[in-house]
Amino acid sequence: MRTFPSTVDVAIVGSGPCGAAYARILSETRPHLRLATFEAGPLLADPPGVHVKNIADPAARERAQRRSEGPGGPGRGRPGTFVLGGEELPAAAMSSNVGGMGAHWTAACPRPGGSERIGFLPDLDDLLDEAERLLAVSAHAFDDAPFAAEVRKRLAAAFDPGRSEERRVRPMPLAVRCAPDGSLTWSGADVVFGEATRRNERHTLFPEALVTRVLVADGRAAGVLVRDLRDGGEHEVRAARVVVAADALRTPQLLWASGVRPPALGRYLNDQPQVVFAVRLRDAGSLETDPRGRSRIVRQSGVSWVPFTDAEPFHGQVMQLDASPVPLAPDDVPAPGSIVGLGWFCAKDVRAADRVAFDDTARDGYGMPAMRIHYRLTSRDEAALEAARTAVRRAASALGDPLDEEPITLPPGSSLHYQGTVRMGRSDDGTSVCDPSSRVWGVDGLHVAGNGVIPTATACNPTLTSVALAVAGARHIARTLPAGA
Ligand code: FAD
Repeated sequence: MRTFPSTVDVAIVGSGPCGAAYARILSETRPHLRLATFEAGPLLADPPGVHVKNIADPAARERAQRRSEGPGGPGRGRPGTFVLGGEELPAAAMSSNVGGMGAHWTAACPRPGGSERIGFLPDLDDLLDEAERLLAVSAHAFDDAPFAAEVRKRLAAAFDPGRSEERRVRPMPLAVRCAPDGSLTWSGADVVFGEATRRNERHTLFPEALVTRVLVADGRAAGVLVRDLRDGGEHEVRAARVVVAADALRTPQLLWASGVRPPALGRYLNDQPQVVFAVRLRDAGSLETDPRGRSRIVRQSGVSWVPFTDAEPFHGQVMQLDASPVPLAPDDVPAPGSIVGLGWFCAKDVRAADRVAFDDTARDGYGMPAMRIHYRLTSRDEAALEAARTAVRRAASALGDPLDEEPITLPPGSSLHYQGTVRMGRSDDGTSVCDPSSRVWGVDGLHVAGNGVIPTATACNPTLTSVALAVAGARHIARTLPAGA
């Protein structure tokens, strides 16, 4: 039987990149605090939170993905995820494992721009800098990919006119390191935890430990109730601060289960409507190919970014596909790296009516209140999707020859970027759940973290932003938590 502490200073729920950011900042700035991170899913590999793409053995990697797919239910999503089920957001998915979705992600880390930015955070750029440090983001991992410059030149001709310098076509910042021999190490929560957390003897990570309730007494968080999923034992852990970083669907679920039910909880749910297309690069045969012959994985054309602007409110990413998604003729073997995938994300028309609601009479696979999604694309969303299809066709014809007649519009939920459900606001006016330091209105000592905190309609991948918001929350705890609280 495992021993759980009876008291810690800070209890963190969820070990994805955002929970890990709290552990890291507090380990660096307040090394004497006692910290515990509780994670419902299993430990996949060492170091804790490692990205599964870094697991060399394919069978071990597949096993790690299967072990991340939750307690059973409606079915699998993308490898490493399981779907929630339901008709209104059919592709909504989660991951349950040490590292969360951050063990399975693509690691694209663009900065938000224009209306994606959170206007009431004056230090947003400083927080994004810090998030880039924690995630080890680089825009140079694929500098030597032979097709990359050509891809960007063609995209720039189509999209750059009229854009400000920092919103022009550029390499996608990625949370990945490239060794001199060309091998890649993808950042997962392990990189966010970093040595500072791993070396911190006062931090303990508990895998397979489901938090079923945040304990609240006299208007303040007093700790968490943890179920040890290995033996079913229940443990009460007292804490001076509680951070719930349990993804955008399960963070509001845990607050609901704990009786913390502000009016905006679960509302303003938004997922980024998404359009995809595949293209064969024009004249790829005449472009130089990778002399090192390691072209199987994204070495030829890298990952390029067409940033969001208010005038063109889409986030575009263009990356080499390992294989063509569309069957080609048997004698048609494309030059390595010459097929690129285009993904165009839209910003949702954010509405309070779009929400995850919870059922006190039905339970999910973990025994938590069952989720029901209410979600609809508005006429503005349909218009945005139509404009995105036009933009993606423009990008495709700049690059080469589309493999399909029309771009494909993915089912709602496919972006895996769910936001808004515990959104941040400037004041407690019923349209937000937490303040700019991610403190839940009306419950002292309770923080929320993850994409659910983002209040704006973003089209860009959200993790860099949500880790930045976690940095702000962690710094607030570091500043305000008395020693020996
Ligand atoms: P998560 O990583 O989801 O972690 C939450 C953790 O909380 C989970 O491990 C869960 O098991 C745990 N938990 C939940 N409830 C409880 C409970 N009650 N008790 C204890 N633990 C609990 N984002 C990008 O920005 N760029 C990308 O390129 C990108 N690509 C992606 C590709 C894929 C295939 C996937 C799956 C995701 C992608 N994402 C991407 C999304 C990205 O992974 C998430 O934004 C990020 O992981 C969110 O971090 P988080 O810490 O908030 O939540």
